[in-house]
Amino acid sequence: MPSPYEYTRDELTRLLVGEPRYRLDQVWEGLWTRAQRVDEITTIPKTLRARLGEEFAAGLVVANDVQSDRGSTRKWVFRLVDGATIETVLMNYEDRVTVCVSSQAGCAMGCTFCATGQAGFSRQLSVGEVIEQVMFALREAQPRRLSNVVFMGMGEPLANYNVTIEVIRRLHENLGLSARRLTVSTVGVAPAIERLAREGLALTLAVSLHAANNVTRDQLVPLNRRYPLERLHEACAYWIEETGRRLSFEWALIEAVNDTDEAIEQLASYAGSLGAHVNLIPLNPTAGYLVRGSEPERVREFRDALVELGVNATVRNTRGRSIDAACGQLASVTNARRRSIPVRAL
Ligand code: SAH
Ligand code: SF4
Repeated sequence: MPSPYEYTRDELTRLLVGEPRYRLDQVWEGLWTRAQRVDEITTIPKTLRARLGEEFAAGLVVANDVQSDRGSTRKWVFRLVDGATIETVLMNYEDRVTVCVSSQAGCAMGCTFCATGQAGFSRQLSVGEVIEQVMFALREAQPRRLSNVVFMGMGEPLANYNVTIEVIRRLHENLGLSARRLTVSTVGVAPAIERLAREGLALTLAVSLHAANNVTRDQLVPLNRRYPLERLHEACAYWIEETGRRLSFEWALIEAVNDTDEAIEQLASYAGSLGAHVNLIPLNPTAGYLVRGSEPERVREFRDALVELGVNATVRNTRGRSIDAACGQLASVTNARRRSIPVRAL
């Protein structure tokens, strides 16, 4: 059964054929304005609620729920109908409320330092499954208003391209979120970045760079062998030219791997030539990658050196580190626990 958020307004109209026309507005308002589940839309008759209840899936099922930073960061693992798990993080900042959504269950890109990459790919998410995460977070955020959506959870959004674009369009049109407040983070699928640039959406693009020489990047991000730094540079330049928007590079700082003085030079030159912003993230440890993140002192030095070289660089605060909030980590812990139960029961 699909999520009601799988449906466009036209598709819902067809589903409500035979009902008075205002029913469509009531259902639409319940779903999108009030973020209600179908069985909570009490403005429509009980019989219709029951019929829609049979048509649609009930919503996301929480498999794990944790919080940190005194409740300002919350993270959920959801178990989908087929047993696949995904994760969603809600971050309350002073000036904004951001939800981080998954675009795939797992990821096929195999980045060595990433828990999702280590666990592998399960399947693509549907439009409804991504929007359900946003609506869940929107409800949980109340009375605050959800202001930003970032595609930085599990999966590579540009490897689920059509779904990502459709979700962005609907969040923009149906929720009224400005495209600028929607951020797609990609590992660097060059042709998809160029295609995205032509969509005419003023969204924010983040590219996970992590290394500015091909030898190191090949090791950290296997996709680099297909789209090496030179090709990625072309795609980034095209993005900037076509959209008139800047982009940012994500850089997870890994001790002695990409936090060296040489790395600073290479990154400054690569990012500088594109006028890109650099977001530094201290590496979150994962079970499958036993190299340490850089010490806080080195993180600061790294940033200062970039700034000195004229690059706009900031350190992203590691919200939710204590709850495994980095990409895929909580879902992998939840699954490991689940798998271990029968073993212990023996
Ligand atoms: N697949 C997309 C979006 C999801 S990953 C991408 O790679 O951009 C979101 C971000 O988390 C990426 O920048 C990714 O490199 C980063 N990330 C993954 N594992 C991490 C870890 N262990 N520590 C710090 N950042 C990590
Ligand atoms: Fe996939 Fe992004 Fe993790 Fe790489 S960092 S494995 S692209 S989710």
